[in-house]
Amino acid sequence: MSLGNSQSPVGGYIGRFAPSPTGPLHFGSLVAAVASYLRAKANDGEWLVRVEDIDPPREVPGATTAILASLGAHGFEYPAPLYQSTRLDLYNQLIDELLEAGLAYRCACTRRKIEAVARRGTTGLIYPGTCRPGKANTARPGTSIRVFTGPDKACFTDELQGRQCCELETEVGDFLVRRGDGLVAYQLAVVADDHAQGITEVVRGTDLLDATHMQRHLQRLLEFQAPKYLHFPVVTDENGTKLSKQTGAAEINDKSASGNLFQALKSLQQRPHESLKTASTKDIWAWAVENWKLSALRGLQTLPDGSMMVQ
Ligand code: GLU
Repeated sequence: MSLGNSQSPVGGYIGRFAPSPTGPLHFGSLVAAVASYLRAKANDGEWLVRVEDIDPPREVPGATTAILASLGAHGFEYPAPLYQSTRLDLYNQLIDELLEAGLAYRCACTRRKIEAVARRGTTGLIYPGTCRPGKANTARPGTSIRVFTGPDKACFTDELQGRQCCELETEVGDFLVRRGDGLVAYQLAVVADDHAQGITEVVRGTDLLDATHMQRHLQRLLEFQAPKYLHFPVVTDENGTKLSKQTGAAEINDKSASGNLFQALKSLQQRPHESLKTASTKDIWAWAVENWKLSALRGLQTLPDGSMMVQ
């Protein structure tokens, strides 16, 4: 498909960090930023920041400013961020292309109707195809739009987690690219932008492994080249719960930037010397890029929360 032209580099590495402005950075999201940054810099690559602000009901006022201020305080260097809220026309054009090509369809099923018949999978309810064209209840097309999925098994090799496979139709079902309230779904926007920004490798937590299968499906439908994927273990608290804004993870303190970076590196199983704890962020980054070892993360299920260790 023609839209969303990629600015693909000539062979260079382009990575990204794509926060949703649902709250300020916490230790887990700092670790995500650090991991993707180090992977890009260790590959002499570029690192882009994309603000995923296309879900106003979930957005927290001031979060974007706070996130960008934190990245600045921690010494991340990057070009001007891309805001997804400025790109809705492109996303909707891609959705129209999918509809026109018969790869997506309008769905009038209410959530209640789906809940009554659907099984639950790892990504939520497995959409049972209730509204697929040709079924009796498609007379009144709805505003939500789903893409068709098929029964075939699709696999990819994650740079850290190895081979990953999913049978989308039975494990996820036809999934939304536009919601009933007219908002563009995360999966579609991410795929559009990873392509348009020429991202060569997506580095993010294992909590998004399931999303990757959906995103790779969309790349196939849109005929976009897939980037590589690297999912690192997520940071969990002492109860094994993933640190997240939803579970109230504390905002990182920008005044302790060096201590935060030091603990993020330790959480990522790198071995910074104690003296770096109080070094400048510039010196910490110089050491971390030089000494970055992805292999230290192999085989780990989770990463420790180092936020309590920051003095
Ligand atoms: N915006 C997503 C989040 O904050 C991450 C998206 C991604 O890395 O693909 O969870």
